[in-house]
Amino acid sequence: MTTTPCVLALDVGGTFMKGAVVGREGVIRHEMRAPTPQRVSVGQGLDEIAGQLRSMLELARDLQLEVVGVCVAVPGIVDEASGTIRYAASLGWPEVPVSQELSSRLDRQVLIAHDVRAGGLAESRVGASVGVRDSLFVAVGTGISAALVVDGSPVSAGGMAGEIGHVTVPDQATTCVCGRHGCLESVASASAIARAYGDLSGTEVAGAVEVADRVRAGDPTAAAVWERATDALGAVLASCAAVLGSQVVVVGGGLSRAGPLLVEPLTRRLIDRMGAAPAPRVVSAVLGDAAGCLGAAMLAWRSTDARTHA
Ligand SMILES: [Zn+2]
Repeated sequence: MTTTPCVLALDVGGTFMKGAVVGREGVIRHEMRAPTPQRVSVGQGLDEIAGQLRSMLELARDLQLEVVGVCVAVPGIVDEASGTIRYAASLGWPEVPVSQELSSRLDRQVLIAHDVRAGGLAESRVGASVGVRDSLFVAVGTGISAALVVDGSPVSAGGMAGEIGHVTVPDQATTCVCGRHGCLESVASASAIARAYGDLSGTEVAGAVEVADRVRAGDPTAAAVWERATDALGAVLASCAAVLGSQVVVVGGGLSRAGPLLVEPLTRRLIDRMGAAPAPRVVSAVLGDAAGCLGAAMLAWRSTDARTHA
C-alpha cells in the first residue's frame, strides 16, 4: 500500500498553539488548536509542545498519511539555521536549542521557524503579496516584528532581521517593556494603543480594535492616539522599505483588523517620508492567524524536498 506524504506544522502563539497536517500543494488535511503552555518551566513547555506533535503524528497515521517533515513556528529571536531560540520574552524562555530538544523527544527531525518570518513567507506565497518578490510583512500585536521578504525568501540574519519593535522613534517618551523609552512597540503596538487611550481618556478599552471603533465614531482622543501610532509605524517602515526596495508592505497581527483605518494613514506616511523613492503599496494581511502555521508547513516541505533531491 502506498501512503500519501504530509508535513506537520505547529505555530506556538502567545495564547494558542495552532497546528495543521498539511499535504502537498498546501492542502490542509486536519487542523487543531490548544492552549500555549503558560508560566511553566522550559522543560515542561517543550514536553507540552512535543505532546501536541505526538498527537498530530498519531492523527496523521490514522488518516494513513506518512509524515515526511515537522516544523514548529515560535516567537522571539529565532535562529532557524541552528534551531535555537535566542530569547523569547512571550514564552519567558532564555536561549533554548528547541529543534534539538524536540527532535530528541520525538525521535525524528523537528525544524523551527520564526513565527513572523513564517507568516511573511505564507503571505508572499498564498496571501496578500502573492507574485511580489520584495515585500515587508509587519506583525502588529502585543509587540511589533517584521519579516523582510527579499528575492522571494524571508531574510533571517541569524534571527536578528526584522526586530524593529525596539527601535526608538523621535519625540516619544513612553516606557517600553524592555525598560527603555520611546520604542516603536511602546507607541504603536496594539497593546500600547489600548493602554495610551486608557491613560489619556480615563476609559478602559478591551483592545486597539475598540480604539479604532472610537476613531471612526469621531473621538478626538482616540484619533490622537491613532495618529501618533501610525506616524511612528510609518516612519520606521519607510526606512525599512527604502533600504530593501519593498514593493508591498503587508500589515498583519491583531491591529490589521482595523483595515483601511490603518492602511490609509500608513500609505500616506510612506509616500510623505520616502520622497523621490517609489513608496510601496500598503495592504492588510489576508491569512489571519493561520499565516504562521501555513508558513511552517511550507518550510517543512521545502526542507523535505531539499533532502529528497540532494
Ligand atoms: Zn523597547
